[in-house]
Amino acid sequence: MTAEELPNGFTGFSRRKPNGFVPASSAMGMPRYVGGQPPAAGKSAFEATSAAFGGGAQGAFQYARDHARSDTGSMQFDPEKLRMIPATDRRWSWTEIDLNAVRHNAQAVKQRVGAGVRLMAVVKADAYGHGAVRCAKTALNSGADYLGVATVDEAVELREALVNAPVLVLSEPPVSSIPLLLAYKVMPSVYTPEFAIRYGEMADAYGMRAPYHLALNTGMNRIGVRHDEVVEFLSQVSFHRALDLVGTFTHFATADSVETLDFQIQTKRFIEAIAAMRAAGVDPGIVHAANTAAAIRYPDVHFDMVRLGVGLYGLHPSQATRTMIDLKPVMSVHARITDVRTVPMSEGVSYGMNYRSPGSVKVCTVPVGYADGLRRGLSGRTDVIMQGQRCRQVGNICMDQCMFEVDLRVYGNRRRLDPQIGDEVLLVGRGGDSVITLDDMANTLGTINYEVACGFGLRMTKVYV
Ligand SMILES: *Cc1c(COP(=O)(O)O)cnc(C)c1O
Repeated sequence: MTAEELPNGFTGFSRRKPNGFVPASSAMGMPRYVGGQPPAAGKSAFEATSAAFGGGAQGAFQYARDHARSDTGSMQFDPEKLRMIPATDRRWSWTEIDLNAVRHNAQAVKQRVGAGVRLMAVVKADAYGHGAVRCAKTALNSGADYLGVATVDEAVELREALVNAPVLVLSEPPVSSIPLLLAYKVMPSVYTPEFAIRYGEMADAYGMRAPYHLALNTGMNRIGVRHDEVVEFLSQVSFHRALDLVGTFTHFATADSVETLDFQIQTKRFIEAIAAMRAAGVDPGIVHAANTAAAIRYPDVHFDMVRLGVGLYGLHPSQATRTMIDLKPVMSVHARITDVRTVPMSEGVSYGMNYRSPGSVKVCTVPVGYADGLRRGLSGRTDVIMQGQRCRQVGNICMDQCMFEVDLRVYGNRRRLDPQIGDEVLLVGRGGDSVITLDDMANTLGTINYEVACGFGLRMTKVYV
């Protein structure tokens, strides 16, 4: 794609039309021209002002000092119009979030687990960097019944966006957050009697119920009441009339592993704990245990609900699930070139100058850096797709920018590229026959796709399609 063909109303770099936006020179009203001369027709305010100063050192100093003064009173930028400048025209990098893929993934898992099993969409950490509110709404419209989050604030964000579905915080929040839980009708996971009693007491004081899910520790040893202490726990809190046990769950540490022994031990303990609750006359409510990996691999642990996290975003938790279900990746990472240059042979690029130009390349800059989730450990180890062709990322990835090289030699079936400022490239996604995935990056980094996805959610704007 050339600069002339760009979407978003982009009409080329220097020929670009303002977006219904008054150019600064005319929007500022009558500037105070030093020397009392208005700018000559056709000249910019800067040129005119420079001319009025004669362009000398004294003039430059005056010019700077004039601009250091408060502008109060001369501001005539329309806030409405300023807001209309799209985020992708403020910074040339963004993640694209394919909500149709979210829909496909939710429906695919729903179909696999069957209509009798509820589906919780886990949208913690801003939906693994994909945007919690939009992903939650899409999942709920595609068969999800429940939402899972990590923090009270994440739950409040959903409620403020008018999401009505049941929301479960997947750990026990601080006692001091209980008023928020009650006010926003958000369920906590509970595993300490202290929290349970305070929660029940406060709900009672407001004439409300205190619904919660009981977290059981069956072997992961992260949170929860130990599987063999569940009856004792319930007897400690059972006197509280407001407490309402809506569900009981555990979490698997190894549902994604080739080795299944630990998974089987956790499953057995969970089933026994649920049976002990029933034997003690307690209804465990909605019983749930499966994350994405278990939901896809092990129908025996679907129980009443599965908790779909990474799979909702089209990412596989393990090799094993790849052949078992068709998931569509939701996130792609896009940028436009912000600078292009020919770097003479043997000159370095970026901090440390670890990369030296072979002379036969153009070096392009894009505004994506490690503060945007493009991890520095990927420096020189990832590619950028331009017009369907892979180009090597070169030099150390900076906080907010990185560089890539466009090989000017033509070989094999590669076309010659002519990169220009404003041209769009892909850092994650599919372009022509070339694909770069979050999994590729995770493998290179020795981490998991979850972590790479979360990183790209940190700062870049999200474009929903
Ligand atoms: C994050 C989380 C999930 C989702 O796990 P995925 O592997 O992303 O499907 C499920 N349950 C709990 C308790 C979690 O913390």
